[in-house]
Amino acid sequence: MVPNAGHLRLEQAGGTSASPRRITLLGATGSIGASTIAVVRERPADFAIETVTANRDAARLAELARSVGAKRAVLADAAGYAELKAALAGTDIAPAAGPAALAEAAAAEADIVVAAIVGAAGLAPTLAAVEAGRTVALANKECLVCAGALFSAAAKRRGVQVLPVDSEHNAIFQAMGSGARTDVRRVILTASGGPFRTTSKEALRSVTREQALKHPNWSMGQKITIDSATLMNKGLELIEAHHLFGTPPSELEVLVHPQSVIHGLVEFRDGSVIAALAMPDMRVPIAHCLAWPDRLDGPCEPLDLAKVATLSFEEPDMDRFPALALARHAMETGRGAPTVLNAANEVAVAEFLADRISFLGIAALVEATLEAAERGGLLQEPATVEHALELDRAGRAHARALLPQIAAKRS
Ligand code: NAD
Ligand code: MG
Repeated sequence: MVPNAGHLRLEQAGGTSASPRRITLLGATGSIGASTIAVVRERPADFAIETVTANRDAARLAELARSVGAKRAVLADAAGYAELKAALAGTDIAPAAGPAALAEAAAAEADIVVAAIVGAAGLAPTLAAVEAGRTVALANKECLVCAGALFSAAAKRRGVQVLPVDSEHNAIFQAMGSGARTDVRRVILTASGGPFRTTSKEALRSVTREQALKHPNWSMGQKITIDSATLMNKGLELIEAHHLFGTPPSELEVLVHPQSVIHGLVEFRDGSVIAALAMPDMRVPIAHCLAWPDRLDGPCEPLDLAKVATLSFEEPDMDRFPALALARHAMETGRGAPTVLNAANEVAVAEFLADRISFLGIAALVEATLEAAERGGLLQEPATVEHALELDRAGRAHARALLPQIAAKRS
């Protein structure tokens, strides 16, 4: 956690620099994108969003680019270029589109790159930012799950600071600061338990898309909301923590905490446990990352523990939520198993959202895909981004081939 050389001081923090911190926002049209824009909008003297990107919604991206005063707007989908260009006509905002343009934008000069694309699709651009030496505020956990070892190696080689936006990892990052890494004995990620925390296994067989999309504590993009309902999100987060903090799988634990007030805990070898608490509002970790190593005035109402009154905890139920066990198993297996797990899960979540497989079918498809990949000799630690993406494609193909069998069961 060494501050970058030449790190700008913020105006609000009493610094002397008059120039705002320049931000590249990958995935600007999403939920984390919106929360980032909300934090920045309040502090025009401190931050300037210079680049915004999205997948294919040209109209929405152009509107956002205009509203934040960006210099450049980039779509991942090359087919949207003409529409984006037309929507930005008469402004100084430069349009671009396609995977190469996206990677180029991610690597462009900036003080911080907020990586908020969803899924393995974020790997190539986020890695491009790392390779260019940019400080990265990472929300896109799938890119660490898909290629954690090579991503971490690139960050280390380039001396890049990766700041965790994910609330649990942001909490752990802050708690880690109270001791030496070698004195850490256990790292605990909390989980809300999602909308089905108390739902019986029998009832889980027939839960609907609408029920799964109703998260009790957080409003987020659809994919992570479903991942939170299956607890796959917490599984992905275990793998994310493993790579971010270099914590061995045996020292990583999940604790269900329905109030989502404590986000993460670090236990040191003397028995001291440091917990980090905050309102369940993504603007808090985002503000922390954008300002780091400075601090901003709180972007949301202060935490009122007397109002919360009770903090409760329980063990996660691996039987009702097999996705968590599958992710832990993939983390322990290594050799590209997390890449395949993530790929299969992305396919499974899309199929569940399209109402083609059941809720329990999500974990069933991931499990069957992992088994098929193991049997087919597919598993191998990806050494390059091309290899990781190839493994990702192969994992998706295996998952799609297994779909009819999982869909037929509708378990
Ligand atoms: P979202 O679906 O709301 O937004 C995703 C963004 O990525 C959009 O801007 C979309 O245009 C872009 N995108 C989608 N597919 C793309 C592709 N193929 N190429 C390029 N861009 C693409 O998602 P979100 O909820 O904002 O989550 C973003 C990431 O942050 C995820 O990895 C998620 O796990 C993580 N995260 C989100 C939250 C949250 O509160 N939403 C909390 C912690 C971590
Ligand atoms: Mg999280």
